[in-house]
Amino acid sequence: MNLDVNTLFMVTIYVEAILGLLLLFAWVQNTAIRAVAWWGFAHLLRAASVVLFGMFGSVPDLISIDLANAVLFTAFAVTWTGARVFDGRPVEPVYLVTGAVLWLLVCRLPVLSEAVDLRVLLASGIITAYTWLTAHEFWRGRSEPLVSRWPAIFMLFAHGALFLLRTPLIAILPVTSTNHVFGSVWLTVLSFEALLFTISIAFILLAMAKERTEFRHKTAAMVDPLTGIANRRAFLQDGAALAKRYAGNPRPTGVLVIDLDHFKSINDRFGHAVGDRVLQVFADVARENMRGSDLIGRLGGEEFAAILYDTSYDKALAVAERIREAFAEAALEVDNRPTGATVSIGMVHCQAAALNVPELLAQADQALYFAKERGRNRVEVASLDLFRERLNHDGSATAASVATISAKSAA
Ligand code: GH3
Ligand code: MG
Ligand code: MG
Repeated sequence: MNLDVNTLFMVTIYVEAILGLLLLFAWVQNTAIRAVAWWGFAHLLRAASVVLFGMFGSVPDLISIDLANAVLFTAFAVTWTGARVFDGRPVEPVYLVTGAVLWLLVCRLPVLSEAVDLRVLLASGIITAYTWLTAHEFWRGRSEPLVSRWPAIFMLFAHGALFLLRTPLIAILPVTSTNHVFGSVWLTVLSFEALLFTISIAFILLAMAKERTEFRHKTAAMVDPLTGIANRRAFLQDGAALAKRYAGNPRPTGVLVIDLDHFKSINDRFGHAVGDRVLQVFADVARENMRGSDLIGRLGGEEFAAILYDTSYDKALAVAERIREAFAEAALEVDNRPTGATVSIGMVHCQAAALNVPELLAQADQALYFAKERGRNRVEVASLDLFRERLNHDGSATAASVATISAKSAA
């Protein structure tokens, strides 16, 4: 492959500028993710630095080397700052300019101004430092499940490593006699790599921003903002997915419908804000007392539901009891108010039959009704098997009568 460095420079300037504008344009369309603007600006800065490098020979070295490098380092620092902003960390103005300032100071030192090798090493070190710092920022935010985070970390790490290798590589490169600065084969290779890197990273960063936006929209549509658990839609969707996944191999399953007792009076006595806190306390308690694989959701208002898959009757009943007791204790006092909140729970247990979530919820709801009737702060159970038995017997059972027949006081 024969690549002329001057052509590469022109292409690089064009590509950097276009990518910078593309990212800025993407940011204008969705200003919520500010990091995209930082990354766009970084590309424009890199374009500017390559313009300055390209002036080598026709302007003083102070501009075409010292200033050009300072602008380039700032571009990498801006990309790093973008990564910090992306994950909600503050801008570090001092470190943002440290690379450029350090470089300009060192260039003015008489000892170093002539030591080209040392200056190349310093330049590579600064770029590697910012590139690895960027990778590090993305790594720190890895708890956010964005797939595109990983190629970003890999690319940044690899590019940083290559820059660090630049010094030993340049030392062994074959230098052509025509142009001692731009004529080396390795410089062509490295410039080409830098160009490919800049294109890849722009698209990966854009993909990250897009993925985050989609992830947030999805979360907003599926998660109840007050309690942080699944909303009704997500819960029913997850329940249906669970039923489908195990249709061929159904396991014993408990379904709970849970309603806070006299919640209206809690709102009336202590205010809506305390009521909200009570709902949060309930969601926390419920989650703490269930396995990670169990499903829980807020059906609406002060009503919740849970699906305990692959759980025996006794175990499901024990979980329901545990949730009831733990909540009664946790809600004795909420925000220093003696709320004394409790829950009533209706449970249905389905023995090795394919899950029909809406039907099971209706059954559990009937058992819940029974729990309310029997004095609240208790668990009542409706058994699906009994429902089926009676249905087969006279074919006229209603869900309500089943709950009444099979409900057993568990409190
Ligand atoms: P019961 O024991 O029979 O369930 O009585 P209850 O008062 O809990 O039931 P009711 O259905 O009469 O009242 C439910 C109340 O829940 C009324 C409503 O204002 C309140 N509520 C619903 N959603 C929210 C919420 O998001 N926050 C707060 N603070 N209150 C809510
Ligand atoms: Mg209620
Ligand atoms: Mg209710």
